[in-house]
Amino acid sequence: MSASVALRLPSIDGLLRHPACLPLAERYGREALLTSLRQLLNELRSSVVNGQLSAVEISPEVLAGRVGERLVQQQRSQVRRVFNLTGTVLHTNLGRALLPEEAIEAVQMAARYPLNLEFDLASGKRGDRDDLIEGLIRELTGAEAVTVVNNNAAAVLLTLNSLGARKEGIISRGELIEIGGAFRIPDIMARAGVRLHEVGTTNRTHARDYEAAISPRSGLIMRVHASNYSIEGFTARVPTAELAELAHRHGLPLLEDLGSGSLLDLTRWGLPAEPTVRQALLDGADIVTFSGDKLLGGPQAGLIVGSKALIARIKKNPLKRALRVDKLTLAALEAVLGLYRDPDRLAERLPSLRLLTRAQADIFAQASRLQPAMADVLGEVWRVGAVQSLGMIGSGSQPVARLPSAALCLRPQVSRRLRGRHLLNLEAALRALPIPVLGRIDDDALWLDLRQLDDEPAWLAQLPLLQVAQ
Ligand SMILES: *Cc1c(COP(=O)(O)O)cnc(C)c1O
Repeated sequence: MSASVALRLPSIDGLLRHPACLPLAERYGREALLTSLRQLLNELRSSVVNGQLSAVEISPEVLAGRVGERLVQQQRSQVRRVFNLTGTVLHTNLGRALLPEEAIEAVQMAARYPLNLEFDLASGKRGDRDDLIEGLIRELTGAEAVTVVNNNAAAVLLTLNSLGARKEGIISRGELIEIGGAFRIPDIMARAGVRLHEVGTTNRTHARDYEAAISPRSGLIMRVHASNYSIEGFTARVPTAELAELAHRHGLPLLEDLGSGSLLDLTRWGLPAEPTVRQALLDGADIVTFSGDKLLGGPQAGLIVGSKALIARIKKNPLKRALRVDKLTLAALEAVLGLYRDPDRLAERLPSLRLLTRAQADIFAQASRLQPAMADVLGEVWRVGAVQSLGMIGSGSQPVARLPSAALCLRPQVSRRLRGRHLLNLEAALRALPIPVLGRIDDDALWLDLRQLDDEPAWLAQLPLLQVAQ
């Protein structure tokens, strides 16, 4: 027999009644506390039996502290706000466009009260949810009709299936694109039941290529805006107007997937030109599809606009019911579209446009202002510079265009061999802040592009909490 007295874990009941645990029960509920206590004791049991823990380590006070930490972690929501300092404004992995106040208020109203989602207040009869934004869409794009679905991928799927199932869809080889997240035009066509008939070559497709492909099996001609790459050099592409004329001569609809699809000419704000929905329709596209949360600056949604007759066919497809949007999305979308009626004030009121059009000088001034605080927190090992940088729009809009911006450039002053680890450690430390800060590593430095740093006080307030592993 060993002389020392074997340690024993406190009992669950004893712990639940212990003064150190009472505030935890009050705050998180008895049930959650009990579950966490059981888990912790189970994990410690073998270490106690093997004599690896001291009496202090299994005291009620210490155990309560450890359980408290776990409960804090568990209660923290999984959906977290972050600082997007990656330099990519419409970042798909970070939620794309930020909604304007008008849309946030509309979402709150729609969440809190019953509303006329599918109810016509004038006649007292059943209504259609697409009607809520049809007037605005007509005004802003010139389209006759609209239907809204979950995102642009759904818009393309639904349109193809409604207009081209069991027939051939003719498309240029230069437009058979893949967009992030496994959205590939040939796969979507197949799932939509449309047989792909590719024409032309990657860099050059002519009107005669489309013409030669048309047969009684043809169902539609599709055009996809090459949003996330560009073909340059020896290229040829049939203008939409010419393609529309050709399609209509053969009784086929022309479907154009614009991707971002801007409602206004962005060059008026000094941004790169992006095809507008109105122009695509004027050129003769019968159906145009585009995203709600890319350049439009609204909620995630896919808009399908075009002729009344074709939109009516699309709305009859049973898939529409599976892909439709909810009331929160519609409320936000209507509010965002409403802002477009006053283009002169759009850049002030729509956050994505405001951020995209921020002047480099303004961002640089911010970088210079924040440089001392950052340098102070990081200490000797890091050189912190306020520098010019290049960002991008993101979400496939203008993949080659760069937005002149400014950043804090954080460079580890250590040997080449150690640089990589230092950068990864800093990146992890920034991610571990209460509001995680996301930058980008490039050229042996960590860049925090400040174009999107709106909430400077919150960013500065948490800076002293930064703890970088060495
Ligand atoms: C982004 C994009 C899509 C997919 O849109 P989501 O709204 O992300 O579903 C489809 N086609 C093109 C050309 C795009 O750029």
